[in-house]
Amino acid sequence: MPADRLSTGIVSVDRLLDGGLETDSLTEIYGEGGSGKTLFCLDVAVRVAREGRWVFYIDTEGVSVDRLRAVAGDGLDRILKRFLLSTPTNLEEQERAVATACALAREGKRPVGLLVVDSGTHFYRLSLSGPDEDDARQALSLGVADLVVTSLKAHVPAILTNQVWRSVRDGTLEPLGGSFLNHAAKTILRFDRLPGNRRRVVLVKHRSLPEGSADFRITPTGLEGP
Ligand code: ATP
Ligand code: MG
Repeated sequence: MPADRLSTGIVSVDRLLDGGLETDSLTEIYGEGGSGKTLFCLDVAVRVAREGRWVFYIDTEGVSVDRLRAVAGDGLDRILKRFLLSTPTNLEEQERAVATACALAREGKRPVGLLVVDSGTHFYRLSLSGPDEDDARQALSLGVADLVVTSLKAHVPAILTNQVWRSVRDGTLEPLGGSFLNHAAKTILRFDRLPGNRRRVVLVKHRSLPEGSADFRITPTGLEGP
């Protein structure tokens, strides 16, 4: 694995990404509900925390401790000691949580191994077509820019998950967040649902790798290669 990669723990996905997530840039993951975005973030986060590095996890949808426990198994208490979990209830709080997490990561007092914002566009979506849409877009952009700079400067991989909307024109699922987010993320992954517990990761954008895909399965204790 190249030194600048964080293994996802899923062999097929690591192979697709030439070793794993880039450690100096933002990875965007988009996909429909139930495609496994949250499970993937939790899975990677638990791996990082297990190795003793800190995870700053911003959860806008309310990850239950039960879900974390299912992935973490018996080591939950130890893992929680390496988790800084924020649960903002609106976009303003989300922006503050991202700013705090990024500042702490850049400060470098504790070894930070991962920044996660899941879902990064949940509150943004709620503001669409309302009077606050422009403010929301700006708040989202500021947070994304902070993640990009922090990842680069502090060498901490950052993941932002993104929800989708269905194009009326051709029925395809498109990521929210507009072109700013899609330019800011150096790696973009789309998660697709396959029958049963199977899921597919499609590499939509990467600065040095070709497009491709990899499959994995959702199991009671986390994610596994096919
Ligand atoms: P959303 O956009 O709604 O947040 P998501 O992409 O984050 O969705 P997840 O919540 O990560 O999706 O994935 C949930 C999927 O995993 C669901 O299809 C659920 O049925 C499945 N799932 C969750 N736990 C298990 C388990 N223990 N065994 C098998 N499947 C599971
Ligand atoms: Mg989710």
